[in-house]
Amino acid sequence: MDIKLARLNQITLECLDEVDQLKIIEKFTKIAIEILSADFGFMFWRLVDDNSYKLIYKSPKTPYEPRLPRKYGYNYKASKGRIPYFVSKPMKSLLPYMKSLAIIPIFYKNHQYGNIVLCFKKERTFTLEERPISMALSNATAQIITINTFHKKTERTAHKLLKQKDEFFNIASHELKTPVAAIKGFVQILKQKMKKARPETNPETSYFLDKINLHTEKLGRLVNDLLDVSRIETGKLKFKKMTFELSELLEEVIDGVQVALPYHHVSFRNKHRFWIRGDREHIERVIINLLTNAAKYSPAGSKIKVSLEEKAGCARVNVEDFGIGINKKDQLKIFKRFFQSKDNSQTSGLPGLGLGLYIAREILKHHGGELQFESKERSKGSIFYFLLPYSKYRIIKR
Ligand code: ADP
Repeated sequence: MDIKLARLNQITLECLDEVDQLKIIEKFTKIAIEILSADFGFMFWRLVDDNSYKLIYKSPKTPYEPRLPRKYGYNYKASKGRIPYFVSKPMKSLLPYMKSLAIIPIFYKNHQYGNIVLCFKKERTFTLEERPISMALSNATAQIITINTFHKKTERTAHKLLKQKDEFFNIASHELKTPVAAIKGFVQILKQKMKKARPETNPETSYFLDKINLHTEKLGRLVNDLLDVSRIETGKLKFKKMTFELSELLEEVIDGVQVALPYHHVSFRNKHRFWIRGDREHIERVIINLLTNAAKYSPAGSKIKVSLEEKAGCARVNVEDFGIGINKKDQLKIFKRFFQSKDNSQTSGLPGLGLGLYIAREILKHHGGELQFESKERSKGSIFYFLLPYSKYRIIKR
């Protein structure tokens, strides 16, 4: 009995992390066959809709196609009694296949999952000891099926909630896009009017307009990031294909970004020219994101070093900063959607949404490239780098 209980416990534990319900049923039918030394066995699953049963599993040695339970038959009696039901001399129609049988109903509270049917080719009597172990078998099967059902339900709910969240972001970002574009347009009109009316006559208004412009640009980028996340999720992010030279793009972006980052000095070291086939605008976005992050997460006055090199058949772009770095715990999560480190509170930059690195990585993946980072000790800065395949025959040393 102890050995049998130990085997049952072992199977129960094994089934705890089994996702496939059919496998659970198979394992419990097999252990029931083993524990009661049956010759073969099967399980009838109870269908809630019409109170009927279907054959859900039969062990490989089952010599015939079991007939579905009939009203007032053995299965019906076992289900009604809710406890294991033993038959030593079954009815004539079953005799060619078995001389005894045991039916173990599987119940959780008032709900019946089904019956495990165990069949014996020789006539036998059932010992007193076999009743409690059959009951334990029934309980263990019911527990594991219930856990599996709850787990599936929770998963379905979580999936539904995630889908609703994505839909919400998609709708919200679409709705935000139009007013942001309108504000941007009106600010431009006002700025032009101010220009004509000589800004030096009204420096305060001019200053405020510049601020509105800056923040609207920022808001526009956030809305764009949100839109792109839902485009990535639904496979709708569009990529144009063209050939462009990477070092030229880097120089252009660094020039542009340097104006917006007056408190950091961005240097660029480069020996090569690389022709890339891909979407120039998207790669530009990746570079802007790495540069603004480097500035956001490092102190004013510190350097940002950009370099371009050849690495294993790819162009490698490094963006090195001397800022807060990324602590060990965060290193595994850095590319996850909406992830932001708690260490960000040490920085003075405008907060983002934690989407830039996720989007950058997806863009690079689409180009057959990758985004990685190396972070030195905390507060010693980090190097974000990306690799992009380039056209082999157009590499010219400068
Ligand atoms: P955001 O900057 O908008 O929060 P990102 O996806 O670009 O979103 O970055 C995610 C997180 O990764 C940031 O919130 C920050 O915690 C961390 N991070 C990114 N770049 C750096 C960096 N250069 N140095 C330190 N931490 C960084």
